[in-house]
Amino acid sequence: MPQIAAPKGTRDILPDEFAARRWLLDAHAAVAESFGYRGIETPIIESTELFSRGVGTDTDIVEKQMFTFEDRGGRSLTLRPEGTAGTLRAVLGAHLDQELRPVRLHYAGPFFRAERPQAGRQHQFTQVGIECIGEGSPALDAEIIEVAWRFFKALGIDGIHLQVNSLGSPEDRARYRTALVAYYTPLEASLCDDCRRRLHTNPLRLLDCKRDAGLVAAAPILWESLDRPSRDHFTTVLRDLESAGIDAIRNDRLVRGLDYYGHTVFEFWHDILQGAQSSLGGGGRYDGLAELLGFPSTPATGYALGVERILMVARAVGTVPSDPAATDVLVCSVEPGQAEAAAGVARLLRDAGMHSILDVAERRLDRKLRGASRAGARVAVIVGENEVGSDSAVVRDLDGRSQQTVPIAELASTVIRILARDSVAETAIGEDS
Ligand code: AMP
Repeated sequence: MPQIAAPKGTRDILPDEFAARRWLLDAHAAVAESFGYRGIETPIIESTELFSRGVGTDTDIVEKQMFTFEDRGGRSLTLRPEGTAGTLRAVLGAHLDQELRPVRLHYAGPFFRAERPQAGRQHQFTQVGIECIGEGSPALDAEIIEVAWRFFKALGIDGIHLQVNSLGSPEDRARYRTALVAYYTPLEASLCDDCRRRLHTNPLRLLDCKRDAGLVAAAPILWESLDRPSRDHFTTVLRDLESAGIDAIRNDRLVRGLDYYGHTVFEFWHDILQGAQSSLGGGGRYDGLAELLGFPSTPATGYALGVERILMVARAVGTVPSDPAATDVLVCSVEPGQAEAAAGVARLLRDAGMHSILDVAERRLDRKLRGASRAGARVAVIVGENEVGSDSAVVRDLDGRSQQTVPIAELASTVIRILARDSVAETAIGEDS
């Protein structure tokens, strides 16, 4: 029978990558919490309407990337393609915004988009994100960018290019749409198929087109359509970023692919990621989304960052630390008769905080020791007949290739010293035991 493979566009997170991801996820939660953001988890399946109404029917995500299915009761469900709509639904549904505004939240989890799988694009991927719900202040747009900025710093990633733009208010965008339509309509015949359609459905998305890049470059600029309050909002964001020491690059063409954004939008780019997939993530203000979902109007701002892409960069720049979950010690018996004593020794070492694997298999000692090195252990503790009789154990430094016999009472402290590379005088192999 053929072997079963993982579904297209998905990847298994094997132990080496698991540790690196945990490092990243912990760093994100710690940085967000240092700004007062609290954790939230929402369902992976949502009603399809949450995204068709929230993200917008003319967006790539809703048009062609959703995993949508009917449940047994005939309701249309979708594997969440993004986290903002679900988080907002959860917060407003639970009236959290009536207790304290703004509500500051962070999340992490899997998301699903049926994009053509390629480097940097998967069907299932992971995002970390934050949402700041209930206030419209530009200071909060700058705050969330600062959270992400500090997060990248915590991971040791330099060279982030922060791209920012303002999409203004709905009225500003209506003015801009008119200007875009006036610009593109005489050029309609030369547009690609997607753009010809977008001209009538969602002209802002014309700026995302890679094929008609020349036309995009000469298109009207959004800033020209912004009114005074919108310009002030954006100017304040830029000023706050500057005083936080964050370099922002103004990008007039940045519109982002989701309908719910207004005013500030931003993306984090890195040179290591080339081409269309150069974005580590992004976000912006989405004051209009709550109403689209049927809730009272509620201003909000947030971001989402792609975990797999950030890990790609962290690996390339070499900042991923070694696995903190790795095994420290392998405890083994010499013969089955010492299995119980060896298990007791392993327990004792775990109580002292060490990661200890127990090997009481009927196998030659040299094979057990080879296994210890392969498991990443730096110390082996060997329990043989003599040791059981004398309430001691043999401690073998697998890197230094030396060993000593120590009383059980001194075992934990001896192993800790070796692991800390603060070696005590050791007996050369062969002299002891
Ligand atoms: P978006 O909100 O669509 O800009 O997505 C934010 C970030 O999530 C992107 O910049 C990517 O880092 C990541 N991302 C989005 N879609 C995918 C995907 N299909 N595969 C892997 N990462 C993705």
